[in-house]
Amino acid sequence: MTLVGGGPGAVDLLTLRAWRALQSADVVVADRLGPVEILAELPPHVRVVDVGKEPGRHPVPQERINEILVEHALAGAHVVRLKGGDPFVLGRGGEEVVACVAAGVPVEVVPGITSAVAVPGLAGIPLTHRGVTTGFHVVSGHCAAGSDGASERSGPLDAAAVACVRDATATLVVLMGVRSLGAIVAQSLAAGADPATPVAIVENGSTAEQRVTRARLDEAAGVAAVRGVRSPAVVVIGRVAAEGLLEGTSERRLAGAGV
Ligand code: SAH
Repeated sequence: MTLVGGGPGAVDLLTLRAWRALQSADVVVADRLGPVEILAELPPHVRVVDVGKEPGRHPVPQERINEILVEHALAGAHVVRLKGGDPFVLGRGGEEVVACVAAGVPVEVVPGITSAVAVPGLAGIPLTHRGVTTGFHVVSGHCAAGSDGASERSGPLDAAAVACVRDATATLVVLMGVRSLGAIVAQSLAAGADPATPVAIVENGSTAEQRVTRARLDEAAGVAAVRGVRSPAVVVIGRVAAEGLLEGTSERRLAGAGV
């Protein structure tokens, strides 16, 4: 089984290694996010199994996805599991590896371009910037109550993520954070975060529908609601999310970042 990260959606953000794996596949097990357009361009004999999930709607449970991978691999097929972004960044790729290894199926991993970094980048937002921030922290905004110690939290964020919002030298990146944005803002403000902290929300990164919404932290949920912000979106909280950060610098003249 080859576990392939497909990047944020644009076909030309697939890596060459990912593309080669797809060309040599017998079966491709694909998600809703990622470079779905590539599926129509695969060689005709390739069987595509769509296990795509949408927020709040999981047509194929994870356990069943694991079984599908194992079943096809044990039947002798070259199985490519195509996932959006990078398979090991909030993508449950680890669980799929564990299931395959437990069944005696060898796994090769092809890393992908994660939306956590690439989607802000496509919108001209650097996650670190000299003199502004020195690091970033990536979290999920979607924590089922009672899972991963979530019941001990005062909101969707864990303590490290809250500390990151309060720290002016760090950037917080939230995936799956649209629905819980109001709770994330409330939790951060209650913990003493600066209400003027810049927030940028980038929807549908790398696609024709890419859209950026910016606001102060204390206004972010209201602005997102007015603009009808929807998943999939990457939320960036921190000074790098400020409008015009790269204006007037050499970065702006470099490589069409669309700033
Ligand atoms: N493994 C994936 C993330 C899976 S979680 C990766 O590395 O990118 C799914 C979340 O990723 C979405 O809810 C959204 O927050 C983010 N995401 C994925 N693709 C995106 C895109 N094209 N534009 C904006 N956000 C995206």
